[in-house]
Amino acid sequence: MLIYNSQTHKKQELVPVEPDHISMYVCGPTVYDQIHIGNGRTFLSFDVIRRYLIYKGYQVTFAQNLTDVDDKIIQRASEEGVSAAELARTYSDAFIEQMDRLGVLAPDIRPRATQEIDAMIDMISGLIDQGHAYSADNGDVYFSVRSCETYGNLSGRNVDELLVGARIEENTDKNDPLDFALWKAAKPGEPAWESPWGLGRPGWHTECSAMVHRYLGTPIDIHGGGSDLIFPHHENECAQATSCWHEPLANLWMHTGMLRVDGEKMSKSLGNFYTLKEVLDRYPADALRLLMLQTHYRSPLDFSFSRLEGTCQSLERLRGTVKNLKWAAEQSEDASGQDAQAAQELAAAIDEARSAFVGAMDDDFNTSAALAAIFALATKANTYLDQAKNQVSTSVTLRAMDTLIELLGVLGVESVRPADNEYPLEVVELAREVAGYEGNDPTEAVSALIEARAQARQEKNWATADAIRDGINALGLVVEDTAAGTRITRQQA
Ligand code: AMP
Ligand code: ZN
Repeated sequence: MLIYNSQTHKKQELVPVEPDHISMYVCGPTVYDQIHIGNGRTFLSFDVIRRYLIYKGYQVTFAQNLTDVDDKIIQRASEEGVSAAELARTYSDAFIEQMDRLGVLAPDIRPRATQEIDAMIDMISGLIDQGHAYSADNGDVYFSVRSCETYGNLSGRNVDELLVGARIEENTDKNDPLDFALWKAAKPGEPAWESPWGLGRPGWHTECSAMVHRYLGTPIDIHGGGSDLIFPHHENECAQATSCWHEPLANLWMHTGMLRVDGEKMSKSLGNFYTLKEVLDRYPADALRLLMLQTHYRSPLDFSFSRLEGTCQSLERLRGTVKNLKWAAEQSEDASGQDAQAAQELAAAIDEARSAFVGAMDDDFNTSAALAAIFALATKANTYLDQAKNQVSTSVTLRAMDTLIELLGVLGVESVRPADNEYPLEVVELAREVAGYEGNDPTEAVSALIEARAQARQEKNWATADAIRDGINALGLVVEDTAAGTRITRQQA
């Protein structure tokens, strides 16, 4: 698998620190407002990257912080007359809700900056002890940029050039204009924590390095964020980590391109933004997902509502194909099919689609090529259904359907799965027998079975868990334990 490393500007083979395991950290939002769809693009890109790594068999540990103390939060809270903590809580919850609606898998670890102050104080103390940071008279602590020989390596800048561009601040306690704050002395009315340097709060860059180190250990396999974070945020994260722990923070740096409107980066400050919430209130999440995945994650993405209308139609077409395949398989009078040649061609198209999909994703997560492979299969499947009418080969038809569902699922497009009567009616009986289910709905029955099996496993009651699985298998279904949870699907023919 090749992944583009923005530090080296080259695609490189993925070689995890620990075999078969990937540790991943993606900078989370500063929670002072609803996020916009530009932020959403970055989080969705890493969701798909994570899902694909899981699909490839890696055990992925994914951590993402919430920046819940920051100048913007403090300012907004005072404008709204609420406490900073309250405002941060409101927008943390809003962020988590919108991510869920967008179908982004929840992180395994979600540290909040305000709960991790001790780890940050440890890191800052370590930096001071090693001569990489100093506390100023005003109670701020600064990182000494010139003490870090590798400073600028990530973003490709050198310290002298930076100095030319540096804003010369007046009344500063910095030794050097390049230095940045690790710890900020408290101002009246601001949230503050005790520290060896008096009351204060951490700087933004401090947070991520300390949390990465605490929860994942350094170096991690993949560190990600939007390309606007490369400098100074990620450069500073790197400098802190290498200076404190003498190890790189991450082996691979991945950065997403910016989502734009009318050629300009979407941002709060320019006012040219749509919140994720307002877009998801009007459009299906998977249509937005398809739109985003049509562009490679590193390229800029031009957003427009007309494009989104277009992907709504693509999504409907995919759903239609999946439903028609299912219907045709169920209606088929002759399981072997009349047109063996056409069935063979569809079988070949399934294999081609799968290998094109994997080839595209293995090449630095080329989601647009991966989607093209899926659409090509959908087109072939439609042609087959037209040719075969209701005389389809059940096994090939179901395999085409399952492949479409599976590959779209890897990209997080889950809504193509047909909901009605997806499961044979016998699951209801089975759920009544082994899971105490009392209703009549196959989908609910499947959930009851999943839950009963999970509970049996949790109680280490392996005999019951196995009996449930065997019962499911006997109905031509299989149990799959995936990152997104347990699923019951049709057995591949
Ligand atoms: P922030 O809360 O501003 O730190 O942003 C959260 C994430 O969204 C960061 O990874 C940013 O790089 C990313 N981001 C901000 N604006 C955009 C945009 N227009 N397109 C894509 N990603 C963005
Ligand atoms: Zn960060």
